[in-house]
Amino acid sequence: MLQVNAIGKVYQNGTRALENVTLNVDDGEILAVVGGSGCGKSTLLRLISGLDRATTGTVSVDGVTISEPHPYIGLVFQEPRLLPWLNVADNVGFGLHEPDTTQKGQRIGEALEKVGLSHYAARWPKELSGGQAQRVALARALVNRPRVLLLDEPFSALDAFTRAELQDHLLDLWNESRPTLVLVTHDLEEALFLADHVAVMRPHPGRIAQTFDIALPRR
Ligand code: ADP
Ligand code: ADP
Repeated sequence: MLQVNAIGKVYQNGTRALENVTLNVDDGEILAVVGGSGCGKSTLLRLISGLDRATTGTVSVDGVTISEPHPYIGLVFQEPRLLPWLNVADNVGFGLHEPDTTQKGQRIGEALEKVGLSHYAARWPKELSGGQAQRVALARALVNRPRVLLLDEPFSALDAFTRAELQDHLLDLWNESRPTLVLVTHDLEEALFLADHVAVMRPHPGRIAQTFDIALPRR
């Protein structure tokens, strides 16, 4: 279980980005975090990922406190953030904790297959469309078989067709291993389509104003 325990975040310039945020996400559940710009959504994901530290409160997965990035927590941003000097396969393998070269190649191949890009292993990031690049980012996040997958506006930069395609794709992928998923989005429709629960955030200071469950039988 992912537990966000009364976390607060005050940035060095005094901005109260988060105040007293508490969330519990059961294993294999999908939580969407929605809210306008500046209400602390990205900050929340950075704290859960261990990329940044909370000022107060704790984040834990199965009771273990998260204080730094961990391979079992995958992260996907709005932009793919691929390394331009590495090909697709090496981008996927970049953060893969697997010392055995054969195993490593196999894992990369599997991850690329999952996102439908088996034939793109030797391509360069600049040769990819926006949707393809984001699929590579998804493969890179999945290759470590994360327990928790954090997605920060993963489809916002894509056109509506590509977005719909990747939303479907994400559900398929999630279904295979059912990681706990936290999806930050400003797209309420996306939240309703993908999530089991929705947390609505408010700014100044960033906080959770409301949470609700989605009752639609979707999968
Ligand atoms: P959202 O993702 O919902 O747009 P953010 O988490 O990016 O919100 O930002 C929450 C608040 O914290 C905003 O007021 C933003 O300006 C501020 N903020 C974000 N990052 C920093 C930072 N590194 N230093 C200072 N203030 C920040
Ligand atoms: P989109 O419709 O998503 O914007 P693009 O028009 O960017 O897609 O790309 C369409 C196809 O052309 C994709 O399959 C992509 O891999 C390929 N492609 C795009 N740019 C290049 C490039 N510089 N070199 C080789 N293939 C490319």
